[in-house]
Amino acid sequence: MNIAIDGPAGAGKSTVAKRIASTLGITYLDTGAMYRAVALYMLNNDISVLNADAVAKNMANVSIDIRYIDEVQHVFLNGEDVSTQIRQHHVSQAASDVSKHSVVREKMVQLQQSIASNINVIMDGRDIGSVVLPNAEHKFYLTASAEVRAQRRYDELVEKGQHVDYDELLEDIKKRDYNDTHRENSPLIVSQGAIVVDSSDMNVDEVVEFILTKINE
Ligand code: C5P
Repeated sequence: MNIAIDGPAGAGKSTVAKRIASTLGITYLDTGAMYRAVALYMLNNDISVLNADAVAKNMANVSIDIRYIDEVQHVFLNGEDVSTQIRQHHVSQAASDVSKHSVVREKMVQLQQSIASNINVIMDGRDIGSVVLPNAEHKFYLTASAEVRAQRRYDELVEKGQHVDYDELLEDIKKRDYNDTHRENSPLIVSQGAIVVDSSDMNVDEVVEFILTKINE
């Protein structure tokens, strides 16, 4: 069984998908982590993520590998575990920029499809229901207003003791939304057959329960 969860940044896809994976006993695959690892490679090697030719030329040097350690997904970039580094703030925007290039998408989609071919997975991303797993048994589009998503992110970071500016987070989210929905290659869309879940007024438990009910129907 394959489940696709797409949606904009900060909609809570990964939290929800992890919970569903553990309830159903299937594997969770965070595809955003792969694009983040590609972005990290470009940043570390001073390659502009906006330069299509330079990115294409360098993709041959990028090897991404997903491994599960104690059931937690780790992302390896050329053999190095970069799971923590890819969560840095500046990597988010770079991932959004680098993911526009078809050479990057082709490589990531191939890897994602090969992982899904052997196991039952719930995958989250932007193009899962439309491109990666168009035949997934269940497809969801998880969203929430940009303000709610920025507020959740703000609360999360403040709880971790980080000093952040709400308006800046909101701007970042809007910029990534624009990038992800307006790009030429595999833009973020509600894929055919996907159930839209607007979590603006729902907590995580409610979203998980709603999705599990739909899967079991
Ligand atoms: O999901 P996450 O926020 O970690 O993804 C980082 C960026 O990677 C997104 O803003 C998006 O541009 C890109 N991405 C993508 N396709 C996916 C997953 C992520 O283009 N399937």
